[in-house]
Amino acid sequence: MNNGILIILSGPSGSGKDTVLNELVKNREDIKISVSMTTREKRQDEIDGYHYYFVDRDYFERKISEDKMLEYAEYADNYYGTPKAPVDEMLSNGKAVILKIEVQGAEKIRKLYSDVISIFLMPPSMRVLEERLRARNTEDEETINHRLVIAREEMKKAPEYDYVVINDTVENAVAGIETIIKSERLKTARNKKKISEVINNV
Ligand code: 5GP
Repeated sequence: MNNGILIILSGPSGSGKDTVLNELVKNREDIKISVSMTTREKRQDEIDGYHYYFVDRDYFERKISEDKMLEYAEYADNYYGTPKAPVDEMLSNGKAVILKIEVQGAEKIRKLYSDVISIFLMPPSMRVLEERLRARNTEDEETINHRLVIAREEMKKAPEYDYVVINDTVENAVAGIETIIKSERLKTARNKKKISEVINNV
């Protein structure tokens, strides 16, 4: 993985992952967000190639069979997955790479990369989560209810993550993630080369 740090950020739909991540990467070249591929319909305010690569099921399945996906999962009747090549490249350039993925994808990544850092972004309450989903005004009632049921199940997996960040305000959530990245960069295991360079006067 070279000097890069691979980070999983999970949290239910409506937990505010996009808002928090957009704020986090502002003016930061050292943190990158992986752009996922999905078969879900593009929402009105979304940009292809920035929020997701929007593709059809045939294309997605071809990428799976060509082994081009680091992981993928089916979520609310759509495929979502992480293209492998860009993540490897960003890691080899020493970046902290954030995968914004749901809990099944997180489990797969943990098996592939033992030193991955996982963060669960929690809404402060179920009520706030529901309000946020409704305020987004992009999904119908049935989809919102479906997502709330999935959200509850996903949040039961939070204890499996290394860190939990409560998104009560964007500032607090961003500060939490920044602290995690800063501490991870200082871990002894990630600095063995530096230690021996100093000792050996390189
Ligand atoms: P949404 O439709 O709200 O954009 O995303 C639905 C869920 O899919 C979210 O929990 C999001 O984190 C997850 N997701 C987005 N991209 C990926 C991906 O590449 N892999 C996996 N496993 N989940 C993803």
